[in-house]
Amino acid sequence: MEKKIVHKDVVIIGAGMAGLTAALYCGRMNLDTLVLENGIIGGQIANAVSIENYPGFESVSGGELIATVQSQAEKFGAVIDEFDSIVKVTLKSNPKIVETEEKIYQCDVVIIASGMNRRKLPLPEERKFAGRGVHYCELCDGHMYQDKIIAVMGGGNAAVDAANFLTKYAKKLYLIHRSEFRADEVSQKRLRQNDKVEIMLQTEVKKLNGDKRLQSVDVFDKNSGEMKNILVDGIFVNIGVDPNTQLFKDEINLSASGRIIAGEDCRTNIDGVFAAGDVREKEIRQLTTAASDGTTAALLAEKYLSKLKGEN
Ligand SMILES: Cc1cc2nc3c(=O)[nH]c(=O)nc-3n(C[C@H](O)[C@H](O)[C@H](O)COP(=O)(O)OP(=O)(O)OC[C@H]3O[C@@H](n4cnc5c(N)ncnc54)[C@H](O)[C@@H]3O)c2cc1C
Repeated sequence: MEKKIVHKDVVIIGAGMAGLTAALYCGRMNLDTLVLENGIIGGQIANAVSIENYPGFESVSGGELIATVQSQAEKFGAVIDEFDSIVKVTLKSNPKIVETEEKIYQCDVVIIASGMNRRKLPLPEERKFAGRGVHYCELCDGHMYQDKIIAVMGGGNAAVDAANFLTKYAKKLYLIHRSEFRADEVSQKRLRQNDKVEIMLQTEVKKLNGDKRLQSVDVFDKNSGEMKNILVDGIFVNIGVDPNTQLFKDEINLSASGRIIAGEDCRTNIDGVFAAGDVREKEIRQLTTAASDGTTAALLAEKYLSKLKGEN
């Protein structure tokens, strides 16, 4: 069956904080706006237990915060579709084409707000223990490990910050990393000064053990050549992130880390295509900066559309 062709002013890819904020603004400016989401609405923050640095809320769960932004966007007319997946995009043409499994969307503006994913632990047992001892989100799941033994895997800022955070719950915390630290000195120092913490550099996690839940990990000490078994209740994996840019890589300029190159105005190398939130190459990735990008992209999208239609 031939796919139906549908016109939209704006197609937003991704319904995280950046995409939903863009949708709220676009809807409010009477732009015919569609948001396509291929995972969970809310993205990285969807399951966060408590957010304490989003202005206006002393403490709010990710679900509650996102539900509010979603409802604001929908109230202003934006449509959010989480059941139809994108198969192809053509961004350099006019109109731009976003083809999904069910439809072909022709649009004047595309706002890419597809965020990023945390890299998974590359061990076959990972699937068995995911959520049952293997975690990727210390803010979401850390509270489950009150007075337990926790391991954190990774050596960058994200890993060391996660480890520092988790010391508030752990009775003992191992930081395991296969090479040397890349994290900044201040965070490293804070970790080293904590009596609960044992740092294991040049050490690789080789195997996860347990019945229904994780009970221990086998680690290989590269310096001594020894394999050790460590009892742990939970391991928090912080070994990097993958920006969600596979769909766009042939058309749009990407940075070395795979993120979209766009300035604070969120404009990419293609007219009418904007990048907002964590998918954009930038230094600070927070909810507030994602919301800020969504705002900027939407307002400049409207200007672009007005020009295109000869209104200004
Ligand atoms: C565990 C954790 C806790 C955090 N806590 C805080 C905090 O307390 N405060 C704070 O300010 N920040 C926090 N952050 C950072 C914050 O969550 C991010 O900066 C923010 O969520 C980025 O929003 P985003 O919309 O750019 O991207 P994302 O949240 O990554 O959303 C992108 C969305 O796009 C979707 N998508 C991807 N590819 C496609 C595609 N091809 N088609 C359709 N949809 C697609 C994804 O499924 C996702 O829903 C936290 C992050 C994590 C991981």
